[in-house]
Amino acid sequence: MYSNLLQYLHANNICYETNVSLKKKTWIHRGGMCDVYISPVNRKELIGVVRQLYHQKYDFLVIGHSSNIYILNSCNVSVIVSTKKCSNYEIKDGHIYCDAGVGVIRLAKDMTKHGIAGFEYLTDLPGTVAAAIYNNASCKKNSISQLLVCADVILPDGRQITLLPDDFGFVYRGSCMKRKELLGVIVGLILKAEPGNALQLQNISSSNIAERRLLLESYAKTLGSTMNNCFSKGRMPLHYYLAYRFYNLWLKLNKNNETQRRIKCKDFICKISGYADIARYVSNEDIIIFIWKDEKADAAFPRYLEFMDKVYRTQDLEIEVVK
Ligand SMILES: Cc1cc2nc3c(=O)[nH]c(=O)nc-3n(C[C@H](O)[C@H](O)[C@H](O)COP(=O)(O)OP(=O)(O)OC[C@H]3O[C@@H](n4cnc5c(N)ncnc54)[C@H](O)[C@@H]3O)c2cc1C
Repeated sequence: MYSNLLQYLHANNICYETNVSLKKKTWIHRGGMCDVYISPVNRKELIGVVRQLYHQKYDFLVIGHSSNIYILNSCNVSVIVSTKKCSNYEIKDGHIYCDAGVGVIRLAKDMTKHGIAGFEYLTDLPGTVAAAIYNNASCKKNSISQLLVCADVILPDGRQITLLPDDFGFVYRGSCMKRKELLGVIVGLILKAEPGNALQLQNISSSNIAERRLLLESYAKTLGSTMNNCFSKGRMPLHYYLAYRFYNLWLKLNKNNETQRRIKCKDFICKISGYADIARYVSNEDIIIFIWKDEKADAAFPRYLEFMDKVYRTQDLEIEVVK
């Protein structure tokens, strides 16, 4: 079934593995088996592999660090292309030329250190630059999409096109690629390199990292925000809202501090809505974060989605689930 593909990979000396457990590869250690897991090491290899896969009409999935994608354990994927090793970048003539798999954290740290502005809030943002464009990932005032000059994309017909920021139709945590209005693979991109004050940028970066470490759950067990910000998009039914408010007030009167109140309120709202069993998988810091804490988390996940729908009136997922 894969003989043409394997022949191509052999002939071009491109790294791949067969029959790979995705639990060993993905950020939250989830997923079934993958028949062929391909790891190109540079842009040329990535372009060649993607063109071959499109040409031979293989169904395939491209991933970066898989820090925003949940592949179900029951899901076997035929072919995966990992961009992780396509991690070269270079600064030239006021621009940063990046391969698709450049890690945002590494790039942002390097740029901040060298006094290049616009990266100072991205020094703790997991993932690759291409996926950051796909997702329009952001942190506070910074996003890779704001820094984007243009990106090269291979289309399903094998053509390579160059897209400008406006072509991506960016919205909060979304783009035309995430909405599947444009199919293709980002193989490289150019970012602005605008000078700033290195010391100031590094101070912003350090305090932002410290703040995120306090607010965010264990990095290895979450995918960042699971749901899109439900407070702007969702709406809590009045009876839950009032119960939540009164319980919070009662806790305050009984001298519970803010952290205690947040945790107890979360447990309370799970309990009164009939979802006490999932409370341990919901972040104490933020209701929109689900934690794949243990093996039972996968069974709790569909119930978490029900809970968010019932209590917060949102079905708006920020992560991608591959079934
Ligand atoms: C602890 C933690 C904190 C986080 N905090 C934030 C935050 O503050 N803000 C925020 O916005 N996000 C946050 N995230 C989410 C995550 O960092 C971003 O969504 C990031 O962009 C994902 O990058 P990735 O390389 O891991 O993408 P993956 O998870 O590997 O892929 C995500 C999607 O992009 C597609 N994709 C990947 N590469 C390409 C390519 N080359 N061409 C086309 N499509 C591609 C994949 O097919 C998939 O659909 C956080 C995640 C974690 C784990």
